[in-house]
Amino acid sequence: MQFFHPACGDVYDATILSPPTELPPRSHARSLSPYYLLSSGKKVNVPWSAIVRDRPAIELDDAVALVPRNCFHGNVVVLRAIDTDGDQLYGWFVKRQSHLLQRLTKRIIIQIGMTCNAVRPSSSLVTCFIDAIFTNSTVDFESLAVVRFERKRSILGDVASNQRKTIKKRSSRPTRPTRARSARIAKKGVDEHETTCVVCMEDFTGFVERPCGKCTTPVCQSCSDRMRGMCAVCDRSKLNAHYECHGCGGLEDLKHSGFPCVTCGENVLCAMCYRAYDECYACDPLA
Ligand SMILES: [Zn+2]
Ligand SMILES: [Zn+2]
Ligand SMILES: [Zn+2]
Ligand SMILES: [Zn+2]
Repeated sequence: MQFFHPACGDVYDATILSPPTELPPRSHARSLSPYYLLSSGKKVNVPWSAIVRDRPAIELDDAVALVPRNCFHGNVVVLRAIDTDGDQLYGWFVKRQSHLLQRLTKRIIIQIGMTCNAVRPSSSLVTCFIDAIFTNSTVDFESLAVVRFERKRSILGDVASNQRKTIKKRSSRPTRPTRARSARIAKKGVDEHETTCVVCMEDFTGFVERPCGKCTTPVCQSCSDRMRGMCAVCDRSKLNAHYECHGCGGLEDLKHSGFPCVTCGENVLCAMCYRAYDECYACDPLA
C-alpha cells in the first residue's frame, strides 16, 4: 500500500521494513499510572500512554460536587482510546485527590469547551483533544476506555509472567552465542577485502548482501541495519518516506517505524506504540 501524504510526502505500509536490530527501551513495570477509572465499583488503572493531557491538572477534592461551577479547563485530564474503527477518541475527565479520574458530564464539557473557545482558542482542549461527545457520539468513551485499559493490564500481566519465565530459563542454561552473532561469525571469511561504505564512508570488511539483489554498491553492516532492508540506491525515496503505524495510525519516519506488536510480533508499530505495549489492528479484539 502506498499513498501520497500532503504534509510529509510518500507514506508506505510499515510491513515492507525488515525487523529493527535494536528495540527502544520499555518497561511493563511503569506502564500503568496510579490514576484509575471506576467500573462497577472496580478500579481500572489508566496506562500512562493513554493520558495525553495533564499539565498537571488541578485535583478536585473528593467531597466537592461535580457541577459546572467547580470545574474549569485547569481541572481537565484528557484520556485517549482507539475505537472499533481504529480512530483515536479523546475523553475529558477530572482528577480527584484519591487518584480517581471521573468522567465530566456532557454539560460541563460543553461549558468548558465554550469558555476555552472564547478565552483560550489555542488550548489543546479545543484544538487537538476534542471530547468524543462531539467527534463520535455513538460511543460511550468511558466504557470504551475501561475495555481498552483492562486489555492493557492483561497484556502487561502476560509480558511480566513471560519475562519471569525467560529469566528462569536463561539462568538455568549455559550461555552460547546468539543466532545473530553466530550468523555474523559465519559470514566472516566470505570476503575479507576492505571496501568503503557508500553511506557512512567508513572502511569495512565482509560482504553484506544488497536487499534489492542487483546493486553492487558496498554498504557496511551497521548502515544496512539502519536502512531496514532498503537499498541505498534503489530505495532512496523510501529511506526518507513515512510509514503508517498499525496501532495508532500515526505517520513516522523510518527510524521510528516497524516495531513489533506485543501480541503477534509483526513489525508494524511506531516506536511510541511499541513502548506502550500496544497491539496492531489485526490483533485488536474490538475491531
Ligand atoms: Zn556504513
Ligand atoms: Zn539496489
Ligand atoms: Zn503508533
Ligand atoms: Zn498484532
